[in-house]
Amino acid sequence: MSTISEEFIARLGDALGASNLVSDPEHLASYASDETPGGEPRSPTLAVTPQNTAQVSATLRLAREYGVPVTPRGAGTGLSQGCVPSSGGLVLSLEKMNRILEIDGAGFTASVEPGVSLAALAEALAAVGLAYPVHPGEMTASVGGTVATNAGGMNAVKHGVTRHQILGLEAVLASGEVITTGGAYVKCASGYDLTQLITGSEGTLAVVTRVTLKLTRLSACREVLFIPFDRLEDAVGAVAEILKLPETPYGIEFFERGILDIVAEYLGAELPYREHAAFLMVLMEGDAADAVHEYFAAVDAVCQRHGAAPSMVPGSQRARRKLLDAREKFLPALRRYTALEILDIVVPRARIAGFVSQTREIGERYGIRVITYGHAGDGNVHLHPVGIGLSQAAWRERLPELMRELYQAGIALGGAVSGEHGIGLAKKAYLPIGCSPETLNLMRAVKQAFDPTNIMNPGKIFD
Ligand SMILES: Cc1cc2nc3c(=O)[nH]c(=O)nc-3n(C[C@H](O)[C@H](O)[C@H](O)COP(=O)(O)OP(=O)(O)OC[C@H]3O[C@@H](n4cnc5c(N)ncnc54)[C@H](O)[C@@H]3O)c2cc1C
Repeated sequence: MSTISEEFIARLGDALGASNLVSDPEHLASYASDETPGGEPRSPTLAVTPQNTAQVSATLRLAREYGVPVTPRGAGTGLSQGCVPSSGGLVLSLEKMNRILEIDGAGFTASVEPGVSLAALAEALAAVGLAYPVHPGEMTASVGGTVATNAGGMNAVKHGVTRHQILGLEAVLASGEVITTGGAYVKCASGYDLTQLITGSEGTLAVVTRVTLKLTRLSACREVLFIPFDRLEDAVGAVAEILKLPETPYGIEFFERGILDIVAEYLGAELPYREHAAFLMVLMEGDAADAVHEYFAAVDAVCQRHGAAPSMVPGSQRARRKLLDAREKFLPALRRYTALEILDIVVPRARIAGFVSQTREIGERYGIRVITYGHAGDGNVHLHPVGIGLSQAAWRERLPELMRELYQAGIALGGAVSGEHGIGLAKKAYLPIGCSPETLNLMRAVKQAFDPTNIMNPGKIFD
């Protein structure tokens, strides 16, 4: 546990102003967790809420001088305890740096501070006919947090993940120096791509203080096609052929009946087709409903060849919203189980079905149910071991080995430990399963070059 001296606090107060320092234990406790199921809370010793880049820089200069660990924090919606301090120290919350600085409708770019939420950004862009296409299920997430985790979500099939939408950054290094990388242009071959290196680095290399984003046009029409199947293998087996059609949907989600039952109970709502075993949800956007429905007819024909039951397009905006809400409520609905974990292993798309059946078999061996759903269009499988009917002791004893086997199975199929949630504290014991010692050593050397005294989010990704 790191200690913080009175002198450090006094100098921080001089640099940032007392209103940007948090020392009240109750307030500090609100920075002790994120949304990771079962994540143990860990309060910082102190927190700061800087209002501009100069204050972030002053904070890091002082932290480096006094050897105080700094944990950057966005909205705290992460699922790997990345923003949870590993051992006290200082939380640097970007919550007050929440301005949209510029929207360039002609250049399809925006420049924003890191604390802007995805919801606020979406609203401001929609007002001028634009959109930022990254959509993790949680729209209160901050832009800075999504850059630091390279967040994915449901729209990745067509639009890619966060790193595909980031054109440039302003970031503060552990030394307090401010760098800018990239810019409001789409191509660049000018040395190492530091924008991409900082993206996904989970606050271990630098604090992101400004982001230049790539935007798209806001589509006039967004629709959902819901397709029931009697076997998961048939559902995910149809995906490759759907993606061969001339148009690309923005998302393809898959899930099994188990999670639909849990979410229906959570919402107190009747959801359709629960007699079937597995489902695809194809998300399409376009300028006119007719064109989207024509596309859905082609998708339906593909799915019928793969043994699907008749598909359904919700008949009203309300019904459509209800279906999408149900999908976005999977995680909140699962929180009824206190013994709950989350893994977000990514495998090659064609191997999803084989992987899911392996996870079922592994879960059965441990007497732990593994609920699966995920982004079928990009191979990202969300796995939730749930300890139904198990004592806490049995759950705690069996879980680490179960998780190890699940990761090993995914990696053996050519996958990776995390597709979108990041490693943080929660998954770092498992990262070596998917990374060779040489690769991990190179990552450590990069960290050393950025942060030689290891004050930036220490204990995250690796020790
Ligand atoms: C219901 C639910 C559904 C979700 N669905 C998805 C999904 O589909 N896809 C997906 O990818 N994620 C999903 N998430 C996870 C989460 O929303 C993302 O990880 C998001 O990117 C976290 O953003 P945040 O602002 O909350 O970051 P935080 O949780 O505050 O921080 C996350 C990491 O970023 C670092 N960080 C934050 N801000 C900065 C900064 N300015 N500079 C440097 N480092 C920084 C932190 O140190 C930490 O390591 C979901 C979460 C919930 C609760």
